[in-house]
Amino acid sequence: MHELGIVFYIIRDVKEVARKNHVSHVSTVVMNIGEVSTIVPEYLTDCWRWAADKEEVLKGCALKINTIPAVTFCEDCRQEYETVRYGKTCPHCHSEHTYLIRGNEVEIKEIEVSDP
Ligand SMILES: [Zn+2]
Repeated sequence: MHELGIVFYIIRDVKEVARKNHVSHVSTVVMNIGEVSTIVPEYLTDCWRWAADKEEVLKGCALKINTIPAVTFCEDCRQEYETVRYGKTCPHCHSEHTYLIRGNEVEIKEIEVSDP
């Protein structure tokens, strides 16, 4: 359960942004979470609710999750394909010389504030 660690990391970052921009309350945080990032969105939002409500600046703040589909690139035929569906083997040429190009992200995409 490393979601709690991620939540603390997000909270630290968001508080930092809020402080720098003189924001007193953040209403929504939007995250980009890759399909193969190992983060379970339900755990993340549960941990978020518990931890964010302890912070004045984040009380009641929503966490929205944007899922980024995983895409793998094949070095042999130079085509892209869906990682979750085909894994490490290219469906076009059956090569295993492939690598993930997208789908591992855990990042803050947007922070919405409720200040007037
Ligand atoms: Zn291929």
